[in-house]
This record gives sequence, structure tokens and C-alpha cells, in this order.
Amino acid sequence: MAASIAPDHPNHFKRRGILFVVSSPSGAGKSTISRRLLDGDKELTMSVSATTRAPRPGEVDGKDYHFVALEQFREMVANHEFLEWAHVFGNRYGTPRAAVEEALASGRDVLFDIDWQGAQQLYQRAGGDVVRVFIFPPSMAELERRLRARATDSEEVIQGRMSRAAAEISHWDGYDYVLVNDDVDRCYEDVKTILAAERLKRSRQTGLIGYVRKLMTEGSGD
Ligand code: 5GP
Repeated sequence: MAASIAPDHPNHFKRRGILFVVSSPSGAGKSTISRRLLDGDKELTMSVSATTRAPRPGEVDGKDYHFVALEQFREMVANHEFLEWAHVFGNRYGTPRAAVEEALASGRDVLFDIDWQGAQQLYQRAGGDVVRVFIFPPSMAELERRLRARATDSEEVIQGRMSRAAAEISHWDGYDYVLVNDDVDRCYEDVKTILAAERLKRSRQTGLIGYVRKLMTEGSGD
């Protein structure tokens, strides 16, 4: 019997990597969903942004963010070290280019927790390799409750985040997929499904051509 030419799993075809952007107002549950996605998926790696904002309690340099001084951030911009960068909440945030390129070259997809400005810039650069997902909170009242429950930010910061949330939401139409996080388990499953479907897109599966050729040869009875 001839050896099967089908791969163990369709994702094992060689394919182009995905730049998977998940944006939402802070407090909408995006970080929980990102963490779960990363935990269960060896093909996915997180892009760690650089920021000029101060670390919050519990945040680890190099893991949550690369915390850098304004001067260093400016140098990184001047040296074209960012794939994209933006002003957010009075601070600067940017996606270091090298780590993303390395991950894509090694066959992994990259997950980005960046805002609408970053999503837009990435799309302008990488077009069809970018998948943009936006997560809505169930309501503004619930968003405020979640922000307060975190208890890490001052009242002024919370109010700032609420008005920023409204601004962020107004850019929902710049995304490919939109979801409401009223149930974190379901929202996570939906985001996972989006990633799985995007991985199976014919246009990404560059390795398919060899497989199809083999199938055709078998079919011709040779
Ligand atoms: P936080 O300060 O709460 O961690 O993040 C604030 C906002 O900045 C979030 O909406 C987050 O998605 C966004 N952000 C984080 N890193 C980046 C980045 O590298 N680029 C852009 N454009 N936005 C980012």
C-alpha cells in the first residue's frame, strides 16, 4: 500500500505566518483571551511591545512589555526598530520589528495586543498577512466595573481609560472580525476558531501546491 501523502493535520502544510491582532478597550478581557490562546498553541507567539509608561505592580520587564525611557524609545524610532508605534494614553507604545520577523521566519504566527492605530499601520505594511480582531465589552458600565475591580489605576486614570475606550470603539470598522466579550469562555473559543480558519486559508498554504501535484499524479493512475 502506498504511503499516505496527507499530512497529519492540514496545518502541517508549509504556510505564510499570520500577524494576529487582537484589540479592545483595556478591561474588555483581551489579555485573558490572549493568555489562553498562547497557552494552548505552540505555533503562536506574543509580540512584546516597548512602552514609555511605568510598569504596573506585577508587570515584568521583557515579558509584559519592554519598559524603556523616552530617549531610548526615540532612538528606536530613529533606527527603524519598530514595525509600528503610536501615542496611547499619553505614552508611546511600539512593536519591535526583529522579534516579529524572527518568529515569522521560524514558522510561527504572532499575536499582537495593540490599539487601532497599530492595527492600521501593520495592515498598511503587511496587508493580507494581518488578521484584525476587535473585542467589545458587553456594556460601558461593565467595562467601568472591570477597570475598578483591577484596582491598579487612580480615578483619573480610570476616567481617562473610559473616554479612551469610547474612542477605541469608534474604530471598530477597521477590523476583520468583531466579537462581544459577555462570556469569556465563548469569546475565547470564537477567537480560537477565527485563528484556525485563517490558518486554513488557501492563499496562506504555500505548501499545498506540492500536495495537490502528488494527488493529481495518484489520480492519473501512474
Ligand atoms: P496598557 O497601558 O493598558 O498596557 O495598554 C494601553 C493600550 O496600548 C492598549 O490598548 C494596548 O492595546 C495598546 N498597545 C500596547 N502595545 C502597543 C503597541 O506596541 N503598539 C500600539 N499601537 N498599541 C499598543
